[in-house]
Amino acid sequence: MKVDILTLFPDMFRGVFEASILKRAQEVNAFNYRLIDFREYTDDKHNKVDDYPYGGGAGMVLKPQPIFDAVEDLVKAEKKKPRVILLCPQGERFTQKKAEELAKEDHLIFICGHYEGYDERIRQHLVTDEISIGDYVLTGGELGAMVITDSVIRLQPEVLGNDESAVKDSFSMQLLEHPHYTRPNDFRGMKVPDVLTSGHHGKIEEWRTYESLKRTYHRRPDLLESAQLSETEHKMLEKIKAEDVATDS
Ligand code: SAM
Repeated sequence: MKVDILTLFPDMFRGVFEASILKRAQEVNAFNYRLIDFREYTDDKHNKVDDYPYGGGAGMVLKPQPIFDAVEDLVKAEKKKPRVILLCPQGERFTQKKAEELAKEDHLIFICGHYEGYDERIRQHLVTDEISIGDYVLTGGELGAMVITDSVIRLQPEVLGNDESAVKDSFSMQLLEHPHYTRPNDFRGMKVPDVLTSGHHGKIEEWRTYESLKRTYHRRPDLLESAQLSETEHKMLEKIKAEDVATDS
């Protein structure tokens, strides 16, 4: 996966991309990235990349020319047009499903905004996706580009030590993941559930499914509306709901 990031602040990325799993992803050739300061593409004699908004108002707007020129330069040698992603609080909200969709691509280009926003023609004529990482406003798109890159790169084959761990994560199975425990069995009187030390794999799987459903029901019931549950899972969910009613009354 090749990732190009258009940003006015390339230094922000190095700590995140040169550590931990993203670093390992580069070592196994699953990820390479380029940081492109689109100021280098401006034809403005004062090196400006932004300008006042037509119609007046607060803040500066990123000009189309440097961003169009930078993207066109990056894609000119490409046979297949890459996804061009604009980080934007007004975009589609980022989800694990979107991460899985983007993980199938070979090349992603991210455009990180700053200041008040972008000239609308960038949105209309240059990008393939507009993505928001949540309903809040950041100072720039850089953190969003890091979040999306991280979630997409960890899905590449051979990046995670144990491939299964991405498959069973929260959201990948349409549910939140079950709780985890590690040694010691008894920590300050707080004990690990007996089933996990029983060595009975069938019962452990059953407990995990039950806890995953319970956690999802309590924390993110909205996910259950679209989750495709098996008959056994439906029965477990009914039991969880009944237990709640019994506790309330
Ligand atoms: N005036 C814009 C608006 O109201 O939609 C907000 C601009 S924000 C201060 C500057 C830049 O930060 C945006 O252009 C975008 O690149 C980035 N940004 C801010 N919040 C974001 C979010 N929730 N998701 C993705 N990018 C975001």
